[in-house]
Amino acid sequence: MNILVTGGAGYIGSHTCVALLKAGHSVVIADNLCNSKREAVDRIEEIAGKKVIFYKINVTDSALIDILFSNHQFEGVIHFAGLKAVGESVEKPIDYYYNNIVSTMVLTQACVKHGVAKFVFSSSATVYGDNQVPFVETMKLLPTTNPYGESKVMSERILTDAATAHPDLAVTLLRYFNPVGAHPSGLIGEAPNGIPNNLMPYVAQVAKGKLEKLRVFGNDYGTIDGTGVRDYIHVMDLAQGHVDALDHLAPGVHIYNLGTGRGTSVLELVHAFEEANGLKVPFEIVPRRAGDIASCYADASKAEQELGWKASRGIVEMCRDSWNFEKNFKG
Ligand code: NAD
Ligand code: UDP
Repeated sequence: MNILVTGGAGYIGSHTCVALLKAGHSVVIADNLCNSKREAVDRIEEIAGKKVIFYKINVTDSALIDILFSNHQFEGVIHFAGLKAVGESVEKPIDYYYNNIVSTMVLTQACVKHGVAKFVFSSSATVYGDNQVPFVETMKLLPTTNPYGESKVMSERILTDAATAHPDLAVTLLRYFNPVGAHPSGLIGEAPNGIPNNLMPYVAQVAKGKLEKLRVFGNDYGTIDGTGVRDYIHVMDLAQGHVDALDHLAPGVHIYNLGTGRGTSVLELVHAFEEANGLKVPFEIVPRRAGDIASCYADASKAEQELGWKASRGIVEMCRDSWNFEKNFKG
């Protein structure tokens, strides 16, 4: 299939482009590079041994998107483009709502106008709010604590309503848990601007000596060791989930958790990273971070039953590949 990948130069998008190309699909990337670099596109081509078409455009620009859809015969869209820093979304709510919601509306409208029937959307486990774990797709969503999370809830709603109004449209909402790791080549991976917000890149930068020590946000949660529990998923497994979702797309709205179904605490992850890579990661316990929940992990059985998809890589491989990327990364 000929697939438009928005945000394809980014972390999850770049790994998914490789997986799509390896599965025999053609890829057109639309990315404004606001949180990524043009080199990622070269790296995708290098790993996959195939070319992609790249457009540096803002996908909120409806006129440009209309031209793009007129010039290419897309069979599907995977919409990764979005702003994703939770804390920043509280400081810049309008930017987040505009970028994340308008992009979804512009692309959905273009799909309807140009008869593109398949739409895969990057949602997040954050839409579950502080529900009881494990999170199941059928759960009633609880309020999230920030504009980023709400932009995902609203985008899901827009796509659901669009699929109801346009019965030919097939929409899959993929709720990612915590993506970590990198392509084993070390050529692509997560390269956040500035000081990382997320645990794994922070740990990797401490291991590299770029940051002094990890601050563990709270050890008084009701979890195995008091630290926060998350469902870390290797980005290569996540990328494959998109290929499988695309293969199974049928009219209507389909929601899948993409997680491993296993929870790992902050301290468990730190120790796994140290063991996997033979390194020390100094840390200190500090107060809880505002807005954090104690535990978040998936019931991932629906994706396995319906898509035949299951995460195969464990926490050791995630830590090894994250470090392999970070230690070679010149940023
Ligand atoms: P990323 O920042 O690495 O990639 C997003 C890409 O989108 C970047 O290359 C950026 O330049 C591009 N982009 C942003 N706004 C754009 C716009 N208006 N027009 C064109 N390009 C634009 O992020 P990622 O981690 O790869 O996340 C991809 C998607 O998955 C996002 O929608 C994110 O919200 C979602 N998600 C990510 C996580 C995570 O922890 N990484 C978890 C759940 C959901
Ligand atoms: N965390 C931490 N120190 C950090 C970053 C994160 O202790 O510097 C914890 C955080 O409190 C949470 C877990 O690590 O329990 C995962 O956080 P991350 O920001 O990576 O993902 P999210 O909270 O969005 O699931």
